Amino acid sequence: MSILICGGAGYIGSHMSSYLLEQGKDIIIIDNLKNGHKNALLGGKFYLGDLRNRIFLNKVFSENNIESVINFAAYSLVSESINNPLKYFNNNILSTITLLDVMKDYGVNNFIFSSTAATYGHCRNIPIKEIDATKPTNPYGESKLAVEKILKWCDKAYGIKYSILRYFNAAGADINGNIGEDHRPESHLIPITLQVALGQRERIMIFGDDYDTPDGTCIRDYIHVSDLASAHFLALERLNKGENSNIYNLGNGKGFSVKEVINTVKYVTGTNIKSEIASRRQGDPPILVASSEKAIKELSWNPKYNSLEMIIETAWRWHKNHPYGYKQ
Ligand code: UDP
Repeated sequence: MSILICGGAGYIGSHMSSYLLEQGKDIIIIDNLKNGHKNALLGGKFYLGDLRNRIFLNKVFSENNIESVINFAAYSLVSESINNPLKYFNNNILSTITLLDVMKDYGVNNFIFSSTAATYGHCRNIPIKEIDATKPTNPYGESKLAVEKILKWCDKAYGIKYSILRYFNAAGADINGNIGEDHRPESHLIPITLQVALGQRERIMIFGDDYDTPDGTCIRDYIHVSDLASAHFLALERLNKGENSNIYNLGNGKGFSVKEVINTVKYVTGTNIKSEIASRRQGDPPILVASSEKAIKELSWNPKYNSLEMIIETAWRWHKNHPYGYKQ
């Protein structure tokens, strides 16, 4: 029996694949390699293709004995989603609908879905709990929320059990140093700041210092990518035991402002990081900090990398050893 990982060559998907291989699991990976990297694949059986292609999916499901599916495949850039919402709705929603339809046909009933803190939008209750209102401030969050709603009805109608995992800010790199973050173009705060430390960029632009936060910059909850992987594994085990569908936040429960992240990068790398204040980035909520109590309690999840410094250290190791990402 195999676990199908959709988007398994991407940043979080590749860390999940590596984690499952370490656990001795049999994995099948699908990726269209639009954002993923072939060099991020450390094992398993790989299929190149797009989830919206039903004929392709039928081939994957008919050639393998798939018992569970984890779906990471999605576009995930907030600002791009604001400028091109249909690209996001088409890819993120349609791909999951096609996948669920094929799962239904093949009687595969365990599904782990990558969701996001962006489903909450501007939440006034901090830390955010799973029961808090979901009001996305960008099409990316909206596309993930739409799938969450679709899942509820697929469970009722077809018995597909799911775990929705709402990640806060995924960061860091595998401790073994073989895989890490490589987006093209890069848009995320930690890798961009590390590129400044490496001398690949002159400065980091701080998107807004007029938010209602202590230093005026946005606050986020950074969670190590390998801790995300362990939570997926536990969520899968829980579904395998026949437990009900559920939603979990995944974060460290501690918020750091953009300026605090830059200062931590300065400290970890021992370099001076030039920064400049720019205007706000559209669609950014001011504060996103998770309450992950539910995951800690119900999944027995125990995040190992619970300090920003540790997270940035792992990312720094990856960037230093792979200054051009997977291109080397
Ligand atoms: N950010 C920034 N400069 C950058 C990239 C990001 O100031 O070059 C800010 C961004 O506005 C947000 C935070 O850093 O408040 C985290 O952004 P990132 O893109 O890393 O993750 P997101 O929160 O969008 O998932």
